[in-house]
Parts: sequence; C-alpha cells; structure tokens
Amino acid sequence: MGSITNGQLCRLRAPASGRESLAFVEGDTVYRDEQTGEELDPVAVLLPLAPTASRLPRAPLNLRICRRCRQLTARDLAECQFCGLVS
Ligand SMILES: [Zn+2]
Repeated sequence: MGSITNGQLCRLRAPASGRESLAFVEGDTVYRDEQTGEELDPVAVLLPLAPTASRLPRAPLNLRICRRCRQLTARDLAECQFCGLVS
C-alpha cells in the first residue's frame, strides 16, 4: 500500500475466516490472503474515491459542513464528529 496507482482503495474480506485487508483494487484481479490463501472479496470502498491525486481521506473534497455546529466533518460518517448530529 502507499504506491501511486489508479486503483480504488478497498476493504477486502475472506468470507470463511472473516480476515480483512486493505488493497488498491484494479480490474478483475483476484486478491488472496497472504497467510491463508483465501480469496478476498471487496466489501467496502474507502475514501478518497478514485481517480484522485489525493491519498488523504480528510482532504477538503471529502469533508462536509455540519448544519448544526458548522464544523468540517467527514462525508463518509453518518454522524458529525464534533456534535454527533446524524446527517
Ligand atoms: Zn456538528
């Protein structure tokens, strides 16, 4: 992880064991757990969304302004990080 790629950073999970990993997923590549060899399925897409030059999940484009406390809070969270208001 950390190299520049066009792939989307995803959370991958092995269905049987529940083991998880993060990887930049590209195309139809099959991803396997390096210890168990299980095939990993993408279960979540992480910010920032590809294609982007940013590797920062808290870059301005991934933040929103809370309508109650007016703080900048993460778009991918249901609740404001500061006042707890559910968006
Ligand atoms: Zn708030």
